Amino acid sequence: MRLFDTHCHLNDEAYQGDLPAVLTRAREAGVVRMLVVGYDLPSSERALRLAETEAEIYAAVGIHPHEAVSVTPAVLRRLEELLTHPKAVALGEIGLDYYYDHSPRLQQQEVFRQQLALAKQTGKPVVIHVREAHAPLLAVLKAEGGLYRGVLHCFSGSKEMAREYLDLNLHLAVGGPVTFKNARKLPEVIKAIPPDRLLLETDAPYLTPHPWRGKRNEPAYLTAVANRVGAVLGLEPAEVAALTWKNGAACFGLPPDP
Ligand SMILES: [Zn+2]
Ligand SMILES: [Zn+2]
Repeated sequence: MRLFDTHCHLNDEAYQGDLPAVLTRAREAGVVRMLVVGYDLPSSERALRLAETEAEIYAAVGIHPHEAVSVTPAVLRRLEELLTHPKAVALGEIGLDYYYDHSPRLQQQEVFRQQLALAKQTGKPVVIHVREAHAPLLAVLKAEGGLYRGVLHCFSGSKEMAREYLDLNLHLAVGGPVTFKNARKLPEVIKAIPPDRLLLETDAPYLTPHPWRGKRNEPAYLTAVANRVGAVLGLEPAEVAALTWKNGAACFGLPPDP
């Protein structure tokens, strides 16, 4: 069984002390492909450094909505440079976060638009983050026009909301929250996602799945997400792994084999 963790932050300082052990546990668990996602310029550069040394790691580079307030034309030019790296396979994470509001909303929208334009220009898929901002996010996506290659990460919205993103051609990634006891609606939503649009992710070090909840998350725990999604869909974990591997390779334009 081989699993693709399509969203983790091994570039986070949480792994500074023991990254080799984290990678060993990931391999032992069958997680042999990981997309390490940036959230500002330094973390995007760290994602690329990891991708250079580890064959199974690919990088997404981008500015998280939390950091929108720090974006200048020079930051966008640097991002454009980083996107020319052969292992910079996606632009992310980008989007809107109206829960924390770390950056003014209008500025979040502007930086999201600018990065969507960069994705279009470079032909790279997008990794989208949204919290408490589905309607404005969809408005921007629709206003920028056309279909998108990419993913809405850690999806936890309704079936109706899922439909909106699927209609824009996006994949939907499911993470640790699907294993939580209070995730009552999520199984029904997962059943409604077409099998070829479903991806798995950990969002490590955040959103640790049951039974490790409370601990730091890491890619090895993706097995718990695969098991739970399998139970929901009536599939073996190995079938879920194969399906989501294939979908991830298609979404990010990666080789079919590790
Ligand atoms: Zn996110
Ligand atoms: Zn993330």
